[in-house]
Amino acid sequence: MTVEERLAEVRRKMAEAEHNAGRDNGSAMLVAVSKTFDADAIRPVIACGQRVFGENRVQESEAKWPGLKAETDGIELHLIGPLQSNKAANAVALFDVIETIDREKIARAVAAEMKQQGRSPRLYVQVNIGMEPQKAGIEPKATVDFVRFCRSELDLPVEGLMCIPPAEQNPGPYFALLAKLAEECGLAKLSMGMSGDYETAIAFGATSVRVGSAIFGAR
Ligand SMILES: *Cc1c(COP(=O)(O)O)cnc(C)c1O
Repeated sequence: MTVEERLAEVRRKMAEAEHNAGRDNGSAMLVAVSKTFDADAIRPVIACGQRVFGENRVQESEAKWPGLKAETDGIELHLIGPLQSNKAANAVALFDVIETIDREKIARAVAAEMKQQGRSPRLYVQVNIGMEPQKAGIEPKATVDFVRFCRSELDLPVEGLMCIPPAEQNPGPYFALLAKLAEECGLAKLSMGMSGDYETAIAFGATSVRVGSAIFGAR
């Protein structure tokens, strides 16, 4: 299959999952994860009308996205990988959405940069939903307090929660837990679901899914 066909297939399956869940068509947004793929591989996907993309590294994104953004109006770029404080300035300058706010230090660094640059990327708090030691994210039980801190102490525009459930397990209960936490936080947006489980995530209320290999091919 070509990249155009794979993208169309993902969009079709998303629409089907929305329909099966009794949700409005288009209520789940596709974030096409283009990490490791270069500008030449991304252009055909942009040509199909896709405008929202996800990347996991700040430096890699700086090498390809300023050029691609200059070529096309309406690109929305999401940072979905871990952010270090020393990259906060670059991340705030380039990304439209940062999905990986997960600790006080990075929240403070991003808040300071937003003030400094006069830019306000929208933000998600990443939750370590399976409490896995190797994964980033705030613990589920600390999430409500952390979101409150980000919003009221730092005035950050947090709009949702993001998670990556443990591999090799039924993701449903983890998606359900993220949805419950978002509700407790009063947040409307849920970034969950990847190539292997985006249809399940839509059934559990994902408002955006982050799909890479199902569109671009294996990395
Ligand atoms: C790479 C990545 C994705 C996409 O993964 P695929 O399995 O290729 O769809 C989604 N979310 C995050 C945080 C990632 O790092």
